[in-house]
Amino acid sequence: MRAEVIVYTHALMTDEEKKKFTRKRSRPGMGLGLFAKEEIKKGTFILEYIGKKISTKDAEAIKTRYLFEIDNEWTVDGSTRTNTARYINHSCDPNTEADIRDGSIMIDAVKDIAKGEELTIDYDQEYYDEFIKPQGCRCSAAAHRT
Ligand SMILES: [Zn+2]
Repeated sequence: MRAEVIVYTHALMTDEEKKKFTRKRSRPGMGLGLFAKEEIKKGTFILEYIGKKISTKDAEAIKTRYLFEIDNEWTVDGSTRTNTARYINHSCDPNTEADIRDGSIMIDAVKDIAKGEELTIDYDQEYYDEFIKPQGCRCSAAAHRT
């Protein structure tokens, strides 16, 4: 049996983020997830998905699961650990959604989120097929993407 590794990641969150979120182990078989420390109302902006802006063309050559495409021209490489949004796990019935505003990836609540609830997002089909489907989706949704 593999020993549980304690990951001290909080130092990389801003003070503002530490008030709002906590990172901890998610559902069995999943890595760290991002959890709300306070209630978040539907429609509220939560946080930005940050990282290095690279050309979408170059992004195709990079092997990371933390690529977020803005448009045909630009993609954000969010693999940096200061990108708190990268800890949001996939769900087939998510409570957040990404919206591109002025070239930035803004994550908003699409449901009321209770204190202590995990933040989830539905990554696109390509992501699902590559990273989720092979081991089977472990999200809490009643029905999964196919
Ligand atoms: Zn699922």
